[in-house]
Amino acid sequence: MWSARPVEGFFRRLRWAADGILIAILLVIPWVEINGEPLIRLDVPGRKFHVFGLVIFPQELYFLWLIVAGLALALFFFTALAGRLWCGWACPQTVLTDVYAMVGRWIQGWSRSGPPARVAAWRKIATHVVWMCFAALLGFHLVGYFVSPYALLSKAASGALTPTTTRFLLASTALAYLDLALVRQTFCKYLCPYARFQSVLFDRDTLVVGYDTKRGEPRGKRGSVVGDCVDCGLCVAVCPTGIDIRNGLQLECIACTQCIDACNAVMERLERPRNLIGYRSLVALERVRAVRILRPRVLMYGALLSAIVVAFVAAVVAREPLDLQVAHNPSLLFGSAADGRTSNAFILHIQNRDREDHDYRIRLEAPRGFELVTGVNPVRVQATSAFETRVFVLAEQDGEDSAHRAVTSGESKLGFVLERTDDPRQRVVRDITFLFAAGSSGGGSVH
Ligand code: SF4
Ligand code: SF4
Repeated sequence: MWSARPVEGFFRRLRWAADGILIAILLVIPWVEINGEPLIRLDVPGRKFHVFGLVIFPQELYFLWLIVAGLALALFFFTALAGRLWCGWACPQTVLTDVYAMVGRWIQGWSRSGPPARVAAWRKIATHVVWMCFAALLGFHLVGYFVSPYALLSKAASGALTPTTTRFLLASTALAYLDLALVRQTFCKYLCPYARFQSVLFDRDTLVVGYDTKRGEPRGKRGSVVGDCVDCGLCVAVCPTGIDIRNGLQLECIACTQCIDACNAVMERLERPRNLIGYRSLVALERVRAVRILRPRVLMYGALLSAIVVAFVAAVVAREPLDLQVAHNPSLLFGSAADGRTSNAFILHIQNRDREDHDYRIRLEAPRGFELVTGVNPVRVQATSAFETRVFVLAEQDGEDSAHRAVTSGESKLGFVLERTDDPRQRVVRDITFLFAAGSSGGGSVH
């Protein structure tokens, strides 16, 4: 059973606007592509993460770390300032549950005073059918954060969806339905980790939804007591988590402000001042002193958030438009070529982080006697893509200038150079050591 129908008021209207904007953002983002690049997508098969024009490769996970740390600190900062803004106004759980409840109440014919005495079976069935359709829409868009929704649609239309994609679509649809239709705010009360540590982020100056005890108590029927609360119970009836805010700040309160609108409507009818329940700090409620906005914890979270933002911007500015990783091929560390030279096999992982396709030349910077053997060179790598190729380096065994002599004199370091053919200034060099088998002529152990 849901809470009673919310009372229309300032916060309720604000909430409709916020819900609409957030749902639109959630559903639109997977479709947005700029110059062929998605706005936000965790492309697992392509092993890259698109976020607002930045394409992050697995080797650049520090970007993700900075983003996650920045979001967490922003959450801490705004929570210390204004309480559970996230829970009440931005969390998809709250926003979508609100919409599900609204649809359910509408189909089942709730009046302002509550549900009808009896809800017809067809209305109950219709409620769940609509919820499932909305869950399918949400599930599709959830998968759309991982796979292009355009590709999903065209594959679905041609019946070419893979079993894995189909399973993900069904699972995300089922998850959305179970969570929003059945679990609802129980998730906030018992499962959400954020609710558990919010008390650490609050202090007495933090804005919270609070009941003015000094003004409201003693509560009771109008005319029988001096307090302004007439104990109508409307604030409890509309609360989606079913708590009584008059008992003080509670873990379950998600700051949705529905009790504020409900109580303000009662106060208006009684021609009493509004905001018996309001959005204010505990010090304001207790009237002990003026509210302080700049407190040590707010300044500390703000400073840490600023540091993360600066670090992120610096990392983006310092980012090279190409990258090369070199590793020994583990299945063929070293061997002998037909002409007797020692060979090492390498795997080159080339990343083109630019938004255009480019040709890259692979070269070797090494002492005399080493030779690079490649297949295709230069190689073409598509925009914001990675390319992997396997190459060999051959080392002469004998002679005054042999590579082996370089090894024995401690110069077995190879430099792989990757440079753009049209602009050789765009280049990276990666060093790696050439390996010889222990006991081979002129060499020692594997280096
Ligand atoms: S107490 Fe008020 S603000 Fe808190 S969850 Fe209930 S209705 Fe929302
Ligand atoms: S809505 Fe206001 S008047 Fe009614 S019980 Fe709640 S606090 Fe009291």
